[in-house]
Amino acid sequence: VNIFLFNTLAGKKEAFQTIDEGRVGFYSCGPTVYDYAHIGNFRTFVAQDLLRRFLEQQGYHVRHVMNLTDVDDKTIAGANQEKKKLEEFTEPYVAAFQNDLNTLNILQPNYPDKQPRATQEIPEMIQLIQKLIQKNAAYEREGSVYYRVASFPEYGKLSKKDLGKNVTGVRVDVDEYEREEATDFVLWKKSKENEPSWDSPWGGGRPGWHIECSAMSMKYLGTSFDLHSGGEDLIFPHHENEIAQSEGATGRKPFVRHWIHVKHLLVDGEKMSKSKGNFFQLKDLLEKGYDPMAIRYSLLSVHYGAQLNFTLQGLKEAGEVIKKLDDCYFQCLTHANRTPGGNKSGAQLGKKLDTAMNEIVNALCDDLNISKALALFHEAVGLINRTIDERTDLQNSAVSGVTFFNETDRLFGFDISKIAETPSELLHALLQREEVRGASDFKQNKELQKKSDELRDNIGMRGWFVKDLRPGEPSTLKKKRRVWDGVQVNR
Ligand code: AMP
Ligand code: ZN
Repeated sequence: VNIFLFNTLAGKKEAFQTIDEGRVGFYSCGPTVYDYAHIGNFRTFVAQDLLRRFLEQQGYHVRHVMNLTDVDDKTIAGANQEKKKLEEFTEPYVAAFQNDLNTLNILQPNYPDKQPRATQEIPEMIQLIQKLIQKNAAYEREGSVYYRVASFPEYGKLSKKDLGKNVTGVRVDVDEYEREEATDFVLWKKSKENEPSWDSPWGGGRPGWHIECSAMSMKYLGTSFDLHSGGEDLIFPHHENEIAQSEGATGRKPFVRHWIHVKHLLVDGEKMSKSKGNFFQLKDLLEKGYDPMAIRYSLLSVHYGAQLNFTLQGLKEAGEVIKKLDDCYFQCLTHANRTPGGNKSGAQLGKKLDTAMNEIVNALCDDLNISKALALFHEAVGLINRTIDERTDLQNSAVSGVTFFNETDRLFGFDISKIAETPSELLHALLQREEVRGASDFKQNKELQKKSDELRDNIGMRGWFVKDLRPGEPSTLKKKRRVWDGVQVNR
């Protein structure tokens, strides 16, 4: 199948083509570890996760690199404020970030073994800067090194700002700037007092933010690779500068084939900010008791290029959706594990679900049309529910349902099929209870009733509850809650 993705560089949807057949080099700009990541960041990381999962589902081997920006203006300011060493300051945020990825069921970047950190890749950055100086694309001034924007006539080709005409020769030292002009930006900053510093041919200093990503992406993915992604704020100047640095140094074009940018989310219709009180980190939502999969659903359910307006009401509704999915899966699992019952009219649910799966894939092929994909998913879930409800070809239908959830979980990452893995000792207790309740004098025998309740309560204390199905059908177990990273979630 052909996958079409909107490529910021081309300004249009394009067929996705990889340099090596069947393999994808994918670089995501990782978090700046000066604070816990917020849901805006996770909107971007979840969107990237969908892309990766989809490519893997389509049989690509994806090499996914995500850096950690652990030295830049913000991390240095934070460390100084808390009077800590840089690493001591960033470490808790690195650990928290990796935890948060797990909590949201975002696949961990898979190359290299550990997420590359800017502070551990300084020699590569220095080499790259040296190359740029050799090519006259960079110059040193008083211990700092700047990129000569005038040396790269295509500057502006990603952000479509036509900046080439406005080359000013003005220099900026800051990592982030909003100027609509092509200023010579900093590659290496001369060390200041109270700042971490590394030796370089230009004296003590530290890298600028933009060179970090050029150096790390090319080191792990080569000088030309397939996919590069971040939030829309990174288009300019960060990614524009990455292109200038990488293509300027290697002469290889394009540095990246497909650029995917995720639109920033709003909260209650406004830009998220600490001062407005609409700023959420993941832990804020978990502490309020929201299910991580509801959060994932909220962040994922709007197309990556469209405006997502995050609200707590929406999150609550996403929680309801997840519950419904859980219930459906749970029904399937229960009946899949039981002896067949009901009539045998041959629902052929499995075939219909295969068709649904193909349609979902087709929707995602169209620039990850997630709204359509989820609509198809819910339609299929409705069909499963109706079929199970009718007890049509019950066990076969249920098995097809289980398979469908396993497949869609791999794609959407909602983790529905993880919920009902039942520990064997609990199953044993359940069967014991069934036996007790199956006794012919159960309705009259207080002892047996007490025993049955005891068994149920014991199971309950382990965090599961017993669900009795229809009369004549065996009862089953359902997990009461999931525990996420110390946070209990009722479902
Ligand atoms: P940072 O930690 O600021 O470097 O950001 C990490 C990632 O989150 C980058 O890809 C940003 O573009 C992205 N990002 C930051 N704020 C938002 C937001 N409000 N909505 C979506 N993505 C965001
Ligand atoms: Zn970057």
